[in-house]
Amino acid sequence: MIKKKVQKKKVQRKAKARAEEKKQIKFIGQVTKIRQTEPATVIEWPRTINHVHTYGMLSPFFEALRKGKMMATRCPNEKCLENRLWVPPRAHCPDCHTEMVWESLPNPVIGTIYTFTQVVYAGIGIELSTPYWQVDVAIPGLATIPKSYLLYGEPYIGMKVKAEFRTKNPTNTVLDYYWVPYAG
Ligand SMILES: [Zn+2]
Repeated sequence: MIKKKVQKKKVQRKAKARAEEKKQIKFIGQVTKIRQTEPATVIEWPRTINHVHTYGMLSPFFEALRKGKMMATRCPNEKCLENRLWVPPRAHCPDCHTEMVWESLPNPVIGTIYTFTQVVYAGIGIELSTPYWQVDVAIPGLATIPKSYLLYGEPYIGMKVKAEFRTKNPTNTVLDYYWVPYAG
């Protein structure tokens, strides 16, 4: 009788050990490739990340771009020295730290090329084909000269351009607006 009890306990212990073994930690990563072993080991280790980012109080700007509109912020403080509009928007006034208010720019948004540069070798993370013209466009009523890109054509200083919006398949980034030559 005692022997049987001991046997049963043994079986139980073995089953428990097997169950524990099944719960063991597993390597779930991607196996690296060895590039070189001499004089030192060099491995190739591909990495991807899923970057989660909030636009916070600036969300209305990106929402408007998706809808084909440009929104800007203005400081509502009458005593502030800077009462012009800001694009890209600011949640708080850089001069007096008052919370900004939102305003839509009149459509179409027409601006003038203030300066430009050709991007031939873009940095990692720039999701535009190269070469492209990066243009700084002066927009009437703005305190800022926002940077974007010219969709087509050759820029020159003083060139009139019109904002267009990527409302179809928006990127939900600042790339959802760009400039095209404007003849009007
Ligand atoms: Zn202010």
